[in-house]
Amino acid sequence: MNTPDSWLGRSHQAWIPKWSLILGWSGTGALVVELVAARTVGVWPIAIATPMLVAAFVLPFLIRCRICGLRVHDSATVRRTPVWRQSAVIESLEACPVCEDDGRATAESRARWIKAGCPRERAYWSPLRLAIAILAITGMLTMLSFIRWRV
Ligand SMILES: [Zn+2]
Repeated sequence: MNTPDSWLGRSHQAWIPKWSLILGWSGTGALVVELVAARTVGVWPIAIATPMLVAAFVLPFLIRCRICGLRVHDSATVRRTPVWRQSAVIESLEACPVCEDDGRATAESRARWIKAGCPRERAYWSPLRLAIAILAITGMLTMLSFIRWRV
């Protein structure tokens, strides 16, 4: 679980998964309202759900190591984990999986990373792949709103 003693807490990024979860569930709730009562409530639930769900998807990508720049959500360690456990893995990290910084981004951590040859991981979620995913989410929600209005 996320504690100030975890990598996430020490790197002051613990708010990100919390807000991602809040926005994800809020957006899902708005979608349920749209599905249940589209004729009476209009399109506002979709208009609210779309940015919430996009933000919930994008926010975890902001979690970065301040030493090596690793996007932890995108790291091999997290990608090997089933999707439903990824948040728990990120929140339980004691150190960056690449540079082993403890989240404090101290000069010693930076010196150790440089001495190790500045190892990096290749990002799985390239900007193009991320843009396609955001377009897919937005497209699906837009299609859902058209389907609901035509029924
Ligand atoms: Zn790192």
